[in-house]
Amino acid sequence: MADSIKRVAIVTGASRGIGKAIALRLARDGRHVVLMARSEGPLNDLKAQIEANGGSASVAVADVSDAKALAAAIEKVAEQHGRLDILVNNAGITKDNLALRMSDEDWDAVVDTNLKSAFVASRAAARPMMKGRFGRIVNIASTSGLVGNAGQANYAAAKAGLLGLSKTFARELGSKGVTCNVVAPGYIQTDMTENLPEEIKGKISEMIAVKRLGTVEDIAAAVAYATSDEAGFFTGQTITVDGGMTMV
Ligand code: NDP
Repeated sequence: MADSIKRVAIVTGASRGIGKAIALRLARDGRHVVLMARSEGPLNDLKAQIEANGGSASVAVADVSDAKALAAAIEKVAEQHGRLDILVNNAGITKDNLALRMSDEDWDAVVDTNLKSAFVASRAAARPMMKGRFGRIVNIASTSGLVGNAGQANYAAAKAGLLGLSKTFARELGSKGVTCNVVAPGYIQTDMTENLPEEIKGKISEMIAVKRLGTVEDIAAAVAYATSDEAGFFTGQTITVDGGMTMV
């Protein structure tokens, strides 16, 4: 899916899991990928891996729950490269508890990291994207945001919020060549899900039409399409990549 222009892409939460796979995929597709997360070491390792594969990447350390720092980091990337084409808002956390026991702090932390950060980053990215009359924003949500999940009131609300946010950015920026979509993963094998007991993983697989948990590459493939030059008529949509678990 290589395009003629060297697109500059920011991937948040690129230090591991789904974000790392997205970064590797976008680099393989010929983008310059800016790797963002809080921990510098894993980002430097990933940069080296991308470069060893013949790709191009740089590192931007930022905490996405710090709105000022996040906006400044995005603006700096656009300034350094003279452009910003792709933004993947992938950084996310969970702080699960039944709603009746959920603290305000855990609500705020999850909503700030998963939802507010996507708004702040997309707002900062919109200006350089509009200037270049090209932009691809992808927000990584979750099937929890589509159908709810017991113990995840904060997370499901934040992920559902990404759908309304994305449709609004799609409507506001469509005429400027900027698209905004959601990729909603189901159960994917990452650090976030590896602590689930084997019995639960087995039960989850039974609910999935293709009878397995997803891989990070399954998600990266959907992001690769939604961020490609050829996806210019694709906006305000949610691609659910869950092996046929929800089919909503
Ligand atoms: P991981 O826990 O494996 O990785 C999370 C990433 O986000 C890390 O790179 C982490 O980097 C980064 N991150 C977390 N908080 C911050 C922060 N405040 N500032 C900057 N970066 C941050 O998660 P996954 O790869 O599993 O999940 C990635 C996305 O996919 C999330 O949005 C998640 O909600 C979503 N998702 C995952 C599913 C799954 O089954 N795994 C299912 C559905 C959705 P660092 O700690 O270095 O800052």
